[in-house]
Amino acid sequence: MAPYDSDSSAGEEDDFTETNVLLGYASKDSGDESISRLGGRPEWLDENTPPSAALARCNICKDLMVLLLQLDGELPDRFPGHERRLYVFSCRRKTCRRREGSIRTLRSLRIAPGTEAAAATREKKKAEDEAAIAKQKEEKAAPKPPSNLGETLFGAKTIGSSSGSANPFSTGAGSSNPFSSSNPFSTGTKLESKTTSTPSTTADDIKSLPKTFAETLSLNNDQPTPPPEPWPTVADQPAPYPISYLSEAEYETLDPTPAPTVPQTARLDVDADGSSGGKGGGKEDREVFESSMDAAFQRFADRLAQNPEQAIRYEFGGQPLLYSKTDSVGKLLAPASAGAGVGISIASVVNASTGMPRCGNCGAGRAFEVQMAPHAIAELEADEMSLEGMDWGTVIVGVCERDCQARGVDEGQVGYLEEWAGVQWEELSGSGKRR
Ligand SMILES: [Zn+2]
Ligand SMILES: [Zn+2]
Repeated sequence: MAPYDSDSSAGEEDDFTETNVLLGYASKDSGDESISRLGGRPEWLDENTPPSAALARCNICKDLMVLLLQLDGELPDRFPGHERRLYVFSCRRKTCRRREGSIRTLRSLRIAPGTEAAAATREKKKAEDEAAIAKQKEEKAAPKPPSNLGETLFGAKTIGSSSGSANPFSTGAGSSNPFSSSNPFSTGTKLESKTTSTPSTTADDIKSLPKTFAETLSLNNDQPTPPPEPWPTVADQPAPYPISYLSEAEYETLDPTPAPTVPQTARLDVDADGSSGGKGGGKEDREVFESSMDAAFQRFADRLAQNPEQAIRYEFGGQPLLYSKTDSVGKLLAPASAGAGVGISIASVVNASTGMPRCGNCGAGRAFEVQMAPHAIAELEADEMSLEGMDWGTVIVGVCERDCQARGVDEGQVGYLEEWAGVQWEELSGSGKRR
């Protein structure tokens, strides 16, 4: 792993902090990993049930896109009975670069027969339990606390303890194959224990959201479902990137006392301005802007530098690491991570907790699940001779926090839903490319 690990004594290792972010590393050696990978061609949960090819077309040029990431997303503790897979696609055309819609993401789901009935029983019991708890609380006359996304999603400690059983990929203690599809770490259905400590958001609250949302925005009318488009033959598809398997993963460890990082250019400019005086506000505003941009990027770069070969960062319901707080994606997500409120007017289309657009299928909020780190580009483009490669800084994937199924897809069948891909492009201003 990282070079500094090798010369750390056992005592010194206590100085490193483990986070809840699971880092995935790419390797040409598949190990036991058969699903999670960079590049290659997509493999569907059921090869006879591909998504409509329209879902894998660039929104700009309408060409078929190529696969950047395929991820085994099974979370048996959170979504028992759900076979999940995520796909991130990108258009290869240079003319589509830096344009919204040139990178898209899909969530595929197959729900095991009987899951919904079991869930309904659990929901009923949960609602009853919560009603009882809520009643007790109301009797104490406390105002309802704002719902906390983390607690709502996870309950106490479900995924918070990185050393516990919450590792969504773990195949057991000491496993070297954390992305395995078998997920034997599942300890069975524990939804009850997740909810007993989170009375602030009741099942009724959650259930009432989608209806209101769908009715208000007439979502169903926005997207009449066209007939699925068949995939062209492999020969007619664009050439895929080479495959690297995400066969290694480990929780991120950080040096808790990194050197302070102050963007030097910003500080010098401000000092110069202060001594000369009398300058217009425009330049200062720009410098403040650049200073905050640099601070976000510096934080991104410093964090990645501690584990430089990470290809993906995974934490369902966690916080994405922003490449910038000033681009459109950064503006959307940064207020949420800073705890700022979201206006009522957009609360119905944006998940106030994460800043991401709500699920277009069921109206639930979207949760961060995974982001791609720049090192993934080096893996994907290892065989490319061109110097002008992909130029995103990170691709942030947000998914329906309820893991809903596509309409009209029964239990046992495979469905596909487009999810939210927030692409932060490399900064072009100033000193140019930063990679
Ligand atoms: Zn395109
Ligand atoms: Zn949904």
